[in-house]
Amino acid sequence: MSATHALELRDVKRHYHQGARTLAVLDDANLSIEPGEMVALVAPSGAGKSTLLHLAGLLEQPDGGDVFIGGTACGRLSDDDRTAIRRNQIGFVYQFHHLLPEFSALENIMIPQLVRGLSQAEASERATQLLDYMKIAHRADHRPPELSGGEQQRVAIARAVANAPLLLLADEPTGNLDPQTAGYVFDALEALVQQSGLSALIATHNYDLAARMDRRVTIAEGKVKAG
Ligand code: ADP
Repeated sequence: MSATHALELRDVKRHYHQGARTLAVLDDANLSIEPGEMVALVAPSGAGKSTLLHLAGLLEQPDGGDVFIGGTACGRLSDDDRTAIRRNQIGFVYQFHHLLPEFSALENIMIPQLVRGLSQAEASERATQLLDYMKIAHRADHRPPELSGGEQQRVAIARAVANAPLLLLADEPTGNLDPQTAGYVFDALEALVQQSGLSALIATHNYDLAARMDRRVTIAEGKVKAG
């Protein structure tokens, strides 16, 4: 057990078989992220960033080692227990927002809470608060196609943290935005992290944003190293 870490990868292996060759993308990789810490994952394309995020998000199982979320070892859990941890403790943000286009910004943030069993009133109150933190309260009733790219991404971040997860995992969350808009979205994300004590692991090619995080890591020779 390692109760203090929001995320821990312990001796994690992920090997892909390509014909006769084995590609050791992660080979006894270790990484710990503390509560409230924002960590940038900066590595060249093909280094294993998506693989690492999928493992950390319990979307894939490692070939060796284990992933701990909030101190819970996840390798031997049942599928239902893993799904519950994924739904309740982890939020995901992708390069493209994947918001539901027929629902308003507010509703997009309410839906994960309703799935979890909260009342309409509770879900609406939290969604309103999150839109406020993300500085887009005035866009609550707009549907995603009516929002700018930066606004869509702010809604996606608010949705990802709607159920107050321990850990936010993001794969190039500002990769689709111009530098100025990326900076604004990051400002909002940073404020949210500081306000909520959330931990975040954010894969990015944006060195300016990476420099603003608490720590930078990279992937080299199958290991997670200080970046
Ligand atoms: P990144 O996100 O840093 O671009 P990935 O994690 O997507 O890197 O991929 C790391 C390496 O693993 C790449 O060389 C990729 O080709 C390989 N890879 C990823 N997924 C698979 C898979 N399902 N089967 C075989 N090889 C894979």
